[in-house]
Amino acid sequence: MAQTTSFIISGGGIGGLAAALVLAQDGHAVSVLEQADAFSEIGAGIQLGPNTFRMFDYMGLTEAVNRVAFFPPGLGMNDVRTGEKIVRVKLGDLARATYGFPYGVIYRADLHQLLLQACQTRPGITLRTLAKVESFEQSADGVRVQLAGGESVQGSALIGADGLWSKIREVIVGDGKPRVSGQVAYRAVLRREQVPAHLWNDDVTLWGGEKTHLVHYPLRRGELFNLVAVFHSDKYDEGWNTFGDSAELTERFAQACPQVRELLDKIDTWKMWLLGDREPVKNWTDRRVTLLGDAAHPMLQYLAQGAGQAIEDAVVLREALRFTRGDVPRAFQKYQQARYLRTGRVQLTARFYGDIYHAAGVQRELRNQLFQSGTESAGFAGLKWMYDGIEPSKLFQ
Ligand SMILES: Cc1cc2nc3c(=O)[nH]c(=O)nc-3n(C[C@H](O)[C@H](O)[C@H](O)COP(=O)(O)OP(=O)(O)OC[C@H]3O[C@@H](n4cnc5c(N)ncnc54)[C@H](O)[C@@H]3O)c2cc1C
Repeated sequence: MAQTTSFIISGGGIGGLAAALVLAQDGHAVSVLEQADAFSEIGAGIQLGPNTFRMFDYMGLTEAVNRVAFFPPGLGMNDVRTGEKIVRVKLGDLARATYGFPYGVIYRADLHQLLLQACQTRPGITLRTLAKVESFEQSADGVRVQLAGGESVQGSALIGADGLWSKIREVIVGDGKPRVSGQVAYRAVLRREQVPAHLWNDDVTLWGGEKTHLVHYPLRRGELFNLVAVFHSDKYDEGWNTFGDSAELTERFAQACPQVRELLDKIDTWKMWLLGDREPVKNWTDRRVTLLGDAAHPMLQYLAQGAGQAIEDAVVLREALRFTRGDVPRAFQKYQQARYLRTGRVQLTARFYGDIYHAAGVQRELRNQLFQSGTESAGFAGLKWMYDGIEPSKLFQ
């Protein structure tokens, strides 16, 4: 029987809660320390590839996810100026037939909530709010974490799941601030009745244009409609979860086709995200301390994989602990070794897909020609390595 351990997780986002759940499923004690005054997530949609649904299956969450997810019939890309269809990939049966798992979209707060509920009902997990991790120190057999306010918490190991601006990463990797991409995302969610029938579309639809794109799709069984407008902007240096400037958005999409402009006009208030990532690294573990999710490998959102990769991390970490029979430093190294090339590939490919979506001139023509020349599933084929996902039981043998 493997030794059980007491883990401290800094950060109660999707990654931190997923890790808490799988570790507690193996009998480990876990304390999740969240700086905010509540465990909550912003209301916006996220896409989840078949690789993430594979993880839900492994974690026993399929039913809970299916109750709130939406399964779009296709993924489409149109030209934002002309409205011309560039490509449409069928999903539904095709994703299941190709990968064994569906492609779905979910309200971020719903995913976070179902993970939270699973953690709340699982013995061995302590969930704490208003617990901001300021610093940590480690010895041969444990870690001590210092919270803002002076309290300290002890455990056998620390997992930094504290996001893009991770404090734990500052110490372990020390690579400064994230790379600011110069791009911002404006997000909004409408109720179904707020979207006129001629603008509603069950597909995940992307309108690509020069240095801009808009994505929309339904959420929560089709009761909501999610919109994400992304564009290059030099206005913002730093910031997170603030409000967007509708005038700037209107200006950036001034050349868009009427359908897109009509849709954008439906929204009064946008939430704004400054988009950033980092260069891939392979030194995010130091003995009894490791990183997970955006803290370890923040990526641009163009492949819609950040949350999915954080959930994969949690599963791999658990498998590494099983394999090493609870030898934490060895397990953390094995986990990092198993993850850094896959997550690094997603980080770099996401940048490339950003260029593809925002292409202009000859690049744009080439993109359209390549996408249009393929078969229906060709758009998927280039990302097969990603959507195939990982097979937890075969990771460490
Ligand atoms: C515009 C946009 C669209 C996206 N679309 C998708 C998508 O379609 N699909 C997808 O899979 N991903 C998507 N993502 C990415 C995804 O949202 C993130 O990758 C994912 O949420 C990362 O989860 P995390 O738990 O690692 O970090 P976070 O969600 O950032 O959570 C970190 C948590 O740590 C807490 N914290 C921070 N510092 C401390 C501290 N010192 N002490 C205690 N707690 C702390 C924070 O309060 C937070 O709760 C998108 C991101 C953006 C910006």
